[in-house]
Amino acid sequence: MMYEVGDIVKLKKPHPCGSREWEILRVGADFRLKCTGCGHQVMMARSLVEKSTRGLRSADGEKKA
Ligand SMILES: [Zn+2]
Repeated sequence: MMYEVGDIVKLKKPHPCGSREWEILRVGADFRLKCTGCGHQVMMARSLVEKSTRGLRSADGEKKA
């Protein structure tokens, strides 16, 4: 899957704030993600992001997965 900075990824497990959608701030072996619900930032291994992904769209709203 092509993850790019600015994309919005929907993950399997919701954040405690209730949002499942995260903005991608950095890609690499580890991703930096920002919760779109509360703004909380986390680092997550790429492999874990890939396993947890339930949807992906670009910043302009185009659906990628
Ligand atoms: Zn949150």
